[in-house]
Amino acid sequence: MRVTGAAHGIREAIDRMRYAVLLGVSLAVSVTSPASAQMMRYGVVMDAARNALAAQWTDDPTQVERAYCVTQWWTATSRNARVHASPSPSNDSAAVQKPDGRDADTVFRVLEIKPVETSEATPNGATFACPAGVPEVHTHPPATCYSDRTDQCYAGGADAYSCQPSREDARKLLDRGDAFAIIQCDRHAFVFYYPSQFAAPTPPRQDLAEVAKP
Ligand SMILES: [Zn+2]
Repeated sequence: MRVTGAAHGIREAIDRMRYAVLLGVSLAVSVTSPASAQMMRYGVVMDAARNALAAQWTDDPTQVERAYCVTQWWTATSRNARVHASPSPSNDSAAVQKPDGRDADTVFRVLEIKPVETSEATPNGATFACPAGVPEVHTHPPATCYSDRTDQCYAGGADAYSCQPSREDARKLLDRGDAFAIIQCDRHAFVFYYPSQFAAPTPPRQDLAEVAKP
């Protein structure tokens, strides 16, 4: 699903403001918390799945979003590797602690995907659901549309090659509790996103707030 034409101006402005706030927060976090102490997540779509997704990609501007389920994937951390076959419990990818107490980095490797039927598909969104614990992939078509109708779309433009998850995409991932989800935004472009990217910021500590009062 994408941010689309209709309410564009306002939503973009709101998103820009939110982004500015988030940027401020993330900069603040990066100052107090060095990257070495955080878990990094990396996603790779392996050859077979990549070729299958690329083969079904089209640059036709008059298309609707398509969706897939990740039927086989595995995670590797700096300590271990686990294979996931569908259906797969999503909590297998929980952070693994390195022996020295630091979080391990995680690599998600997607081996196999299968198309899943969508309903109410438009150029800007589609309704679909993979089984519980099975991560989802969906496309963002390379077009800009004046409405949710394919005959109102043109190739390229402001909404094309949008590789960021929309607010709805993020909410769906959080609701499902999957370890990751993927957007295909060009023939060979696959963007992974993770629940931790959208977690609510921790509220300021009350005891510190009390100290700060005159
Ligand atoms: Zn989307």
